[in-house]
Amino acid sequence: MAQTRLGPLGRRTQTPRADATTPAIVFDRVGVTYGRGRKATTALVDFSLRVAGGETIALLGPSGSGKSTALGALAGFVRPTLGSVRLAGRDVTDLPPARRGIGVVLQSYALFPHMTVADNVAFGLRAQRTTRREIAPRVAEVLEMVGMGGFGSRLPRELSGGQQQRVAIARALAIRPAVLLLDEPLAALDAALRQSMLTELQRLKEALPETAMLYVTHDQSEALALADRIVVMNNARLVDVDTTENLWKRPPSSFTAAFLGGANLLPCTVGRVSGTSALVSVGSRTVNAEAPYPEIGQPEWAPGSPALLCVRPHALHVVSTRERNALTATVSAAVWRGAVTRLVLALDSLPDVAVQVDVPGHTPFEHGSVVGLRLPEPAGVLVSSGHSA
Ligand code: ADP
Ligand code: MG
Repeated sequence: MAQTRLGPLGRRTQTPRADATTPAIVFDRVGVTYGRGRKATTALVDFSLRVAGGETIALLGPSGSGKSTALGALAGFVRPTLGSVRLAGRDVTDLPPARRGIGVVLQSYALFPHMTVADNVAFGLRAQRTTRREIAPRVAEVLEMVGMGGFGSRLPRELSGGQQQRVAIARALAIRPAVLLLDEPLAALDAALRQSMLTELQRLKEALPETAMLYVTHDQSEALALADRIVVMNNARLVDVDTTENLWKRPPSSFTAAFLGGANLLPCTVGRVSGTSALVSVGSRTVNAEAPYPEIGQPEWAPGSPALLCVRPHALHVVSTRERNALTATVSAAVWRGAVTRLVLALDSLPDVAVQVDVPGHTPFEHGSVVGLRLPEPAGVLVSSGHSA
């Protein structure tokens, strides 16, 4: 239901809803600097993003890359130094958080400890002056949605961490927000619980097909599991943004290749290019590689120029040194990880590059032993060595 508000000129205007042409969320060249002078920290630089209604975007990047700052700028916790944020076409840059109509879930559940679960969930509704008659069924509905139906009269301290986080999600959903922001919501949970909560978040996403979600995480598996598109962040900047599949299969930058999936980036030289495939030389071998069409503004793959060959650890195979076309490598480390053993190899022809290879099971390898390394076909995808972000 569209609410009636007083517009900037005092006229009564309808709050626009996101539709096919108006994005649910717009960040327009947002910059954030904390503090002043010598103590100033630039946390976000020229950040622009459009999110459609119903779309789930993961903001993925290492700690300190500006993810929470971006989320905070949209929620109203952080004041942008530059640029603006819009919700359903409406500039909300100067609006207080409570008037933005956004649902927010943080890593620390931030439930009110002295209030029951039901009162916690009803909090936003009361602030919005929802009638009492509407509140009870709405609270019951959202608690049901997160699997906490029977828990309304408990206090937060009578719940486990996972249950508290479900209540925090229910509280965020109670106001039926068009936009839901989640900042590392699973980071405080143990590994097994994180996995089951991830499945529930997937279900929740399906149950809310019109809600735009912004999901902050440093964990690539959460981003891959939930997001339609991933925004990769580093050093206060947006490095890449694309669908999860595109970023995984054809990472546009070496940073994204390494951060999303821990790819090996082997220095190579581009040879003949035809369409989207290229011959490249890696160490002492010439192999086929995928050469995706460059993005607008990026140079083409030029024969003779240096590039990086992106190969994931699970795609490489350890073979006999006598196998034809195998590269020769020396084992410098072997770590058993349960389902696989992660080997670190030094290639004879590229001794400075540590190549990570996953071999199935618990396979003991002696440090210093010499093995063959077989590249897949095609051997990998080319990544520009120029802009690493
Ligand atoms: P992330 O969520 O990706 O870990 P943040 O957005 O929290 O990163 O932080 C980005 C940068 O801004 C970091 O260098 C961080 O130390 C700094 N920062 C965050 N919040 C504040 C603040 N309130 N005051 C000063 N610096 C801050
Ligand atoms: Mg953060």
